[in-house]
Formats: sequence, C-alpha cells, structure tokens
Amino acid sequence: MSSIKLRNISKKYKDEKKFAVSNMDAQIENGEIITLLGPSGCGKTTTLRMIAGFEKPQSGSIYFGDEAIVDEDLFIPPQNRGVGMVFQDYALFPHLTVEENIGFGIKKDKDYKDKINKVLYLVKLNGFEKKYPSELSGGQQQRVALARALVRSPKVILFDEPFSNLDTDLRTNMRNEIVSIIRKTKSTAIFVTHDQKEAMAISDRVIVMNNGFVEQIGTPKEIFEKPKNKFVAEFIGFSNIFKGEVNDNVVSSDFGDISIENEENFSKDVQFSIKPSGISIHDEGNLSGIVKSTSYFGDYLEVFISYITKDKEVLDLVCYEDPSKDLKVGDSIRFSIDKNKIVIWKE
Ligand code: ADP
Ligand code: MG
Repeated sequence: MSSIKLRNISKKYKDEKKFAVSNMDAQIENGEIITLLGPSGCGKTTTLRMIAGFEKPQSGSIYFGDEAIVDEDLFIPPQNRGVGMVFQDYALFPHLTVEENIGFGIKKDKDYKDKINKVLYLVKLNGFEKKYPSELSGGQQQRVALARALVRSPKVILFDEPFSNLDTDLRTNMRNEIVSIIRKTKSTAIFVTHDQKEAMAISDRVIVMNNGFVEQIGTPKEIFEKPKNKFVAEFIGFSNIFKGEVNDNVVSSDFGDISIENEENFSKDVQFSIKPSGISIHDEGNLSGIVKSTSYFGDYLEVFISYITKDKEVLDLVCYEDPSKDLKVGDSIRFSIDKNKIVIWKE
C-alpha cells in the first residue's frame, strides 16, 4: 500500500497536437479510493497508464510514497512498480483455469497455494479454481481479474471502467463488493469512470477531468456542494444553470433578488444552479410560468416549466413536485425558489 503523488505530469502522444494530459497535480493517500471522472477522451486512461508505467509522460514526476518512479531521468518499468490493474474486459487467459489465471507469473513456492486460496476466498470464488473463464458469469470473471491483481499484494490497484460490461443490477452489487474487498485489504485504489453516480458511490475523493486538465479534486460532498465551475456542475448532473451577480448577501438574476448566506464571499459575476427540489409550484409563488411537460416517476413528478422573465425572455426550468399534484401541459402556474437549494460558483 502506498500513497501516490502526481506532480505536474503532461503527456502528448506521438504525432498528436493536443496534450492528452496537461500539468496534472494530484495526491492520493495511502488506502484511499479515488476516481478519475470525466467524459470520454479527457485523459483518464492515459493517467492510469502513466501510473502503471505503460506510458511515459513528457514531463513531471510520479512518486509512490517517498519513492520516485518517474522523474526527469528516471523511469521504473511497470513490472517493478507493484501495480495491479483490472481492465474493462478483464483480460483473462481463456485457456487457463481460474487458479492458473490468478497464479500466472507468480512463483510456485511453498506459499503459492495459500496465497491463491486466500484471494479466492476474499473474492468468494473458492470452489471455482478449476473452472475456465468461459464457464463464469461476467461478475465472476471480474472477481478473477481482481483476485489476480490482489495476489501480488500491489502497492496500488488501478481499475479502468471495470463495471461498464456489467448489467445495471449486477453493476451496483459488484461495485459494492469490490469496494468492500479494497477496504478489507486496505489497498490504495484508483478507478476510472465516466459515470458520475458510480464515482460518487465508490470514492473517498473524485478527480474531475476535462480535456486533459483537472477541473476539481474533492470528496463527493465537496463536489456536490461546491462545484468549481459550469463544467463540473453539468457533469455531475446539475440543471437549471443561470448567470447572476452577487452583492453582499443577495444574488440578482432573471429570478429577481434572492438572499443567500454567501459564506464563500462571492462577489459580482457568478453562475448558479437551482436544484429541481428547490422549485415549488404553489399559488402564492412570486414567479409565474407555464407547464411545458410532466413525467411521472413514482416518487416524484418531473415538471418542465417555461418561465417568462421581466424582459420577456423564456427560460426553461426543471423541478420535482409531489406526484399527487394535478398539473397539465399548458397550465399557468406560480412558483417560488428555495434559497437553500441554490448552488453558486464564480463565473
Ligand atoms: P479517456 O480514458 O478519458 O477516454 P484517454 O486517456 O484514452 O481518455 O485519451 C485522451 C486523449 O488522448 C484522447 O484525445 C485520445 O484520442 C488520445 N489518445 C489516447 N491514446 C492514444 C494513443 N495511443 N495514441 C494517440 N492518441 C491517443
Ligand atoms: Mg478510457
């Protein structure tokens, strides 16, 4: 187990104009589960591959604990880094049994059998040692891949989109199971995903990436409560994003003046998101609009509202309402905004 430090690493592939990863700084603590989150092509896999040693950055350094593994004149090869990697397609050998897959390339010394049994037990595949990958479900194959990484007692385990080949139900189960195994073994783990829900569910901290750059690093709570910019806010699923201006404890926008706590001392130009649960439709609301569409989701009703501003501009808003409410497309309604459900960031 080891902490990992990425210091100002940049990577440009041969013949490419654009950097795949630019000036990336991050510190991952010993035993931490961290996730690289961002859209396809933002540099997540490249970052993992640099940590594993399959790619060499043009500049910057990487440390495992106090030990440099990449620096100006230093490049420790992958096999000497003590890194375990679990891929999306599991990368198992089809002609080898579960046991042989897990034991591939490790010394057949007197502890060999014990080591294999220990990880088989950990991933709950004891009894499956003589099976071939084709005889296993997707989830079981994934656990073999994890066991193969764990048997080497790696300093860090890297997971590249490990759940994307699994069905939704199995996915949730697998990720809970894998996270619990990682916690049990106190491993340092880095996951890659483009799925924000998944990232928030499994991680101690999340690194949000965009276009080769780090946009924000924080706990799921910090990222949800204080997204740094519009990219992060949109990527984690915020809607109802607008511009405004803050003066002291008031944010002024197309929705009029709304008093806020302003603990972060925002001033002047900001952007903000109104949470869908922060808009309530009721006759005493100070704002007026028209119901554009409704979708019933059992626990709540999703309502799209067209709001007409003072300047006769039409803004679309989404809100969550009590599903028993009788709202029809075209209804004129009044609504209000809960100031506690507004999230602000500097523009
Ligand atoms: P992600 O995993 O976030 O989808 P990648 O790290 O795979 O992103 O890719 C980052 C950028 O680098 C993309 O623009 C991609 O096209 C480019 N890229 C990735 N691998 C290679 C490669 N082997 N050669 C050239 N360009 C690559
Ligand atoms: Mg990738």
